[in-house]
Amino acid sequence: MVTKRKTQQQLDILEELENPSRTRQQLPTWLQKQDLTEADLPYIHTLLLSSFADWLEEVDGFPWLGGQMALLHPDGTSISADGLLEENEFLPVSWSAEAIGPTAANTALETCRPTLMRAEEHLFVPFKVFDSIAVPIFTRTTGFPCAVLTCLLPAGTAQAGDLKLLQAAALHVRSCIYRRFENLFVGGLLRERKLSKKEESRRDILFEVMRRLNDHIDVENVLSEVLDSLEQLYPICQADLFLSQDYNSANQKVKPLAFHLKDMDLCKSAFVEGIIREERSEGRHELALPLSGKQGVYGVLRLDLPENEFDEADISFLTMLAGAAGAAFEKARLHEQANVLVGELRLINELTQRLNSSLKLSDTMQFASAELLNIFKSDFCCILQYDAVSHQFVVMYANVAEIIGETYSTEYGFCGVMWSTKEPIILSDYCSATPVGSKLMDVTNSRSLLASPLLLNGEVIGAVLITKREPNHFSYDNYKLLQVLSAHLGLAMSNATLHAEVRRMVITDNLTGLYARHYLNERIGRKQLRDTSGSLIVVDIDHFKKINDTYGHQVGDDILIQVSGIIRTSIRDSDIAARWGGEELAIYMPLLGLEQTERVAERIRHRVETETNPQVTVSCGISEWRIADDKVSVESLFYKADMALYEAKHHGRNCIVVG
Ligand code: GH3
Ligand code: MG
Ligand code: MG
Repeated sequence: MVTKRKTQQQLDILEELENPSRTRQQLPTWLQKQDLTEADLPYIHTLLLSSFADWLEEVDGFPWLGGQMALLHPDGTSISADGLLEENEFLPVSWSAEAIGPTAANTALETCRPTLMRAEEHLFVPFKVFDSIAVPIFTRTTGFPCAVLTCLLPAGTAQAGDLKLLQAAALHVRSCIYRRFENLFVGGLLRERKLSKKEESRRDILFEVMRRLNDHIDVENVLSEVLDSLEQLYPICQADLFLSQDYNSANQKVKPLAFHLKDMDLCKSAFVEGIIREERSEGRHELALPLSGKQGVYGVLRLDLPENEFDEADISFLTMLAGAAGAAFEKARLHEQANVLVGELRLINELTQRLNSSLKLSDTMQFASAELLNIFKSDFCCILQYDAVSHQFVVMYANVAEIIGETYSTEYGFCGVMWSTKEPIILSDYCSATPVGSKLMDVTNSRSLLASPLLLNGEVIGAVLITKREPNHFSYDNYKLLQVLSAHLGLAMSNATLHAEVRRMVITDNLTGLYARHYLNERIGRKQLRDTSGSLIVVDIDHFKKINDTYGHQVGDDILIQVSGIIRTSIRDSDIAARWGGEELAIYMPLLGLEQTERVAERIRHRVETETNPQVTVSCGISEWRIADDKVSVESLFYKADMALYEAKHHGRNCIVVG
């Protein structure tokens, strides 16, 4: 009631009062002007009670009226009486005229005048043996009665002098009331002042903490900031931060939120319900404050402190601090995630560009493997391709010598699992966790595995496996990233395979399976740039027209295939056999001298003569080039061989001529 009337001016005055250099000899006028109002009346019982007690103590030993003193509230309640109260049990609880009829007290209150009432005037029977006198006590500025001091004297003994004496006593009581009132007023103001100062400083601190929190965009700093601020503000309390995310902080006070542990019930419920939880037991006060952001609760801040250390304002302050920390944590977390995403996008972009820049499958896979090893900080990588013909996985690339070129059935190992599930795999510990066998894991002694199928139009076309010797190496984020990357890798693998197939088709003659003429030209042209010599055999089937005419084109084709087969099995891997056109075939033999070339030609001639059915023979023209020649070219090489062939035909066919 008192503090309601606090004004800025009074606050300023309080400022002065708090200054210890000033002594308060005189009551300042502003305080003198403070007074009780009618609105205060319902609340002043305690004030009156203690003021009356003060007065009784102060007048102890004073030659007093020989009666029973009582101080009454204007509502008629008896506030207190002097020490004889217990023996005078007849003193009524309510002195109002309605309750006990007229008394000096209720009449004085009504008339606002000192009143004397004779015993016989009382209606209340116990009062019929008393004369009663009463004096109203007025407030000091507004002048309405705030209490009545009354005295009961033996019947017939009350005199006018007694009333005067009571008036003096009333003044004394009034000063006791105002002394209490001023104390209360000033005390209240000071208490308010103290609270608002504390509140102000909390707000300043909160503002400062929030400002600093918002300066940080990395999670680690936000966490340290929260814990440091708490330590600074409440040095007596023990603060722990529990985080729900799989976030590893370097700060020792940041721990994972493990619900299964003991003593975590309070944190669990704060986390689940998203509201502050408290528990007081054995002199301790435990607080669990949820770290909430807009998208959810990230963790719990747990404070442990001696009981009665915190008031409501502290708790609401801490709630705000936890809220600010939650928001800052969320912001920092989102920032970090955005950075990771940007990084991943950049990576995907670079990787796809690089993957698509080469259409050579082996280059692409080697590059992809190096990138994956780097991205996932892993030890081994193996990329397999599914071969639809053999229905097996073929190791296309691996940085593990033991498995290069190996093939695995679609039921074996992790590839087998991915073949049937079409899902990626993350394995934290191969040693303890899996019934699936894996040669890759075994030969590399790996324990962590991250693997993904390579899919194209929903079909498994390959697989990628990445491993690490240490267990628990890969995170869920790694798993998601590999899933994205493997989509690009699958596409690159498919592109490179298709490209290789198209290229193979382009450079291969359909009927004979030998190379096409343009490819032979290309290869000879390249060889002539690097090598020092080479030779060429041109093989032409004799009287082929007749074969066609006699047996039909089908058989003619078959003869072409037979002769091509003889050629293929008569030459080295490094030699290049091609269909030069029609029924003419050609073999280029790098770095081979004329003598050896002639031997090869002779072998072919002989085999054709003896092995073909229906039997045909061939004529061969041979030419060679050497680096020392005046003019080295594919055309002149062929020209010379052609001339030699022409000569062979001229010499009766089924023979060899060296040009
Ligand atoms: P020579 O001994 O002088 O080489 O006589 P030849 O009949 O073999 O020579 P010619 O150049 O007159 O005839 C070549 C024949 O080869 C003409 C053509 O019908 C046939 N021929 C060319 N390409 C093919 C083919 O792909 N299949 C078949 N069945 N015949 C072909
Ligand atoms: Mg011919
Ligand atoms: Mg011909």
